[in-house]
Amino acid sequence: MLALALLLPACASGDGVPAARGHATTSTTSTVPQPTTTTAPARATTPACPTIPARATPDPARPKYTLRADVHPSDGSVDGQLRVIFTPDVDTDRLVFRLWPNGPPAGPVPPELTTGQVTISGRPVSSTAEDPTTLVVRSGATFRAGQAVDVAMPWRLTVPGKANDRISRNGDSMRLGSFFPILSWEPGVGWATESAVGGFAESSTAPTADFDLTVVVPEGFGVLASGTPDPARGGHFTATAMRDVGVSVGRFDTVSAVAMAPQPVQVTVGIQRGTVDNDGLNAYLDTVVGSLEDFGRRFGAYAWTTFTLAITPELGGGIEYPGHVMQGQNTIGVTSHEVGHQWFYGLVGNDQGRDPWLDEGVTSWAEARFEGRLERFKARVIPPAVKNKVGEPMSFWADRRQNYSDGVYIQGAQALAALGDPTLVDCALRVYVALNAYRIARQPDLVAAASAVFPNAAATLTAYGVKA
Ligand SMILES: [Zn+2]
Repeated sequence: MLALALLLPACASGDGVPAARGHATTSTTSTVPQPTTTTAPARATTPACPTIPARATPDPARPKYTLRADVHPSDGSVDGQLRVIFTPDVDTDRLVFRLWPNGPPAGPVPPELTTGQVTISGRPVSSTAEDPTTLVVRSGATFRAGQAVDVAMPWRLTVPGKANDRISRNGDSMRLGSFFPILSWEPGVGWATESAVGGFAESSTAPTADFDLTVVVPEGFGVLASGTPDPARGGHFTATAMRDVGVSVGRFDTVSAVAMAPQPVQVTVGIQRGTVDNDGLNAYLDTVVGSLEDFGRRFGAYAWTTFTLAITPELGGGIEYPGHVMQGQNTIGVTSHEVGHQWFYGLVGNDQGRDPWLDEGVTSWAEARFEGRLERFKARVIPPAVKNKVGEPMSFWADRRQNYSDGVYIQGAQALAALGDPTLVDCALRVYVALNAYRIARQPDLVAAASAVFPNAAATLTAYGVKA
């Protein structure tokens, strides 16, 4: 399959290292205002699309970040300030920030993220780097469910050079993805502490949050990022109900359009000036607009009002963030896949170490539907070693990297195709999105949604290895 690398982008998923989880204790009844949830439709008795439930709403007590990054492309340093108001929904004895730039290096000169004095309500507290990607903050007391914590710290990122990854500096352009200390809270569960993984992959888990983001760049540089740009303050973005933010810095040539997905979405596609791309900038713009509108019809409305795509040099595929995607040159074939992640990872989150198929397999379905690749995906023979193992965690795929794309991406699309009429599969995913929007879903949540459309969904999916 010649086009495998293009068809199967190695985007944020988790790829290589066994996952291990740490959970907070769950001893206290929550007093936190609860987000709106909706009731799942009854289990289907015959294959049919039920009334789609109202979309769940984001948790009003979600984390509120104020994030500032002073970017210096000349030497690759980024000076940052972070403040976050965090309200746990179960008691916990610590705060956990993940420092993803310190994971396995993707290039010969790896980036480094360091943090300074952490404060809570302005008072210094102790913090410990329990491993390179895990900063643990303790105050000596329990952080109580429903009680907001005001935590802040300075941070500094150094990006010495280029890498085929989410953090890179290449000439005047910089990719900044998973680049700042981020809380790894899974609501109702506790802290996600999976090991970092190598390559393009990621094992990040982050709750839906709000970000007030300020990116300061030298004169002449531009910023494409997650969130709504403030016309009065260059480099200021407001990202509402997003679980992470991604930033690309460079000297961009841009094209823009409005997608109706179905609400208006301001779309901007930028390419680092001087970068040659044989696909042409307008082709990317057309694909983004077309796939946003298509997925908005299939799976429910796009959740935000902006979307940006930055094309920067020497990235062999795409990397998705809510509202922002990074791609390399000549990668138009992965564009709709990355847009699909706006629903499956961005809006409906998942633990990428525990359930990688929930983002990569389901997004491959979206890609297949938009691109007309479903028959090709269905025809692909899955290697016996990974057949019917689609629901396995990254600890399984770490030893089977060569079969990861077939086992998770392609087989994920095959498992969904096995449910029945593709139009009804789209309906099942629309139910799944409505019920699990802004949350961190698990495999049984997808099975439950599919069971509202297909009576035999649980049997069909578990035969592929989905965990019901
Ligand atoms: Zn992907």
